Amino acid sequence: MPDGSFSTVGPYLFPPPPIQIEEFLFIVKETGEPERIPGITRAPPDLSLERHELICEIHVPVGQRPGGEYIPCAICRDVPKFLHGHLLWSEDGCLRLIGHCCAHEYFQGGRFADIVDQGRRKRQRKAQEDWLLDNLEKVPDLLAEIVALQPAAGFLHKQKSAFAKEAPAVHEIFQRAFRNSAGALTVVHEQLARNHDGPRGFHSSTGGQSDYQVEIVATLRGQEFLMTGFRPISALKKLIAQLEALPGGNVLDAVAAMDEQGVDATTRMFLAALKAGPALVARLRAAALFLSPANVAGMKKWAEHPNNPLPLHIDLRSSSFRLRLDENNILLVLTSCPPMSDLKGFDIALP
Ligand SMILES: [Zn+2]
Repeated sequence: MPDGSFSTVGPYLFPPPPIQIEEFLFIVKETGEPERIPGITRAPPDLSLERHELICEIHVPVGQRPGGEYIPCAICRDVPKFLHGHLLWSEDGCLRLIGHCCAHEYFQGGRFADIVDQGRRKRQRKAQEDWLLDNLEKVPDLLAEIVALQPAAGFLHKQKSAFAKEAPAVHEIFQRAFRNSAGALTVVHEQLARNHDGPRGFHSSTGGQSDYQVEIVATLRGQEFLMTGFRPISALKKLIAQLEALPGGNVLDAVAAMDEQGVDATTRMFLAALKAGPALVARLRAAALFLSPANVAGMKKWAEHPNNPLPLHIDLRSSSFRLRLDENNILLVLTSCPPMSDLKGFDIALP
């Protein structure tokens, strides 16, 4: 075959399209005879051909085979050989029925494994394309759902930043409560003596004269609110940019114009955005928990506990609280976070 050309001998110039493959599989299912697929070649493929593609798997239960005979294998020159194999297309334009084990022996050096792998990749690409065609048109709605989070994200961003900036010492104390004790706000009771089990004034766990008891007054929730690395507005902008980078307009044309890498990259980008949306809402909700009435009541209870030496004051108002530790830590925190949607549109089945 000079300069890479070859003479086509079979009737299938190109690998059969999905609709034709469905017809083939229908024939196999109805008759139990894959040999009835039109234009099947019964001689082995030429190993010097470069392109071979697996079209579909062929499996027939022995009970469905005429006379209980196995399916003839082209590699074995039409000798009945297998019940589980493949339909192979080669660039000589031929379709052949080949047994699985025969194929591994015939295409030596792992070549058949490569052919199987290529077939798998091609099917995956097709699945990605179909998925993009089905779902890319939903992107404008998804974008609208994310944009609708802007009031909540903006509100939380502002309250978060103000807390870190205007009340840095209190911010640090609460952060430490999350880091060291899962949000527990504690006070220490000192008990000078114990008059049972052991000598007066001695306690084995401290080895000293006093006995300390730690009391959890409240347990904070909403650690995200204090995380300086979580910036709601930036996170929201990033997600909007991700969604806007996906092809809009005529989805059919956009997908048709993509090459293999384009389909894969677009699918990955879309999947990342689908994951990032609900993850962002979960973080925003977690941050908003910090401002919940129960949380603020817990802070106040702790601040006012007689065993808390910290001169922290918390004044509750209807939709805010005022916090004061000293001259450098005074802050009014607003607590009425705008509502957030569930991002229902993001519930899309994966390819
Ligand atoms: Zn064979």
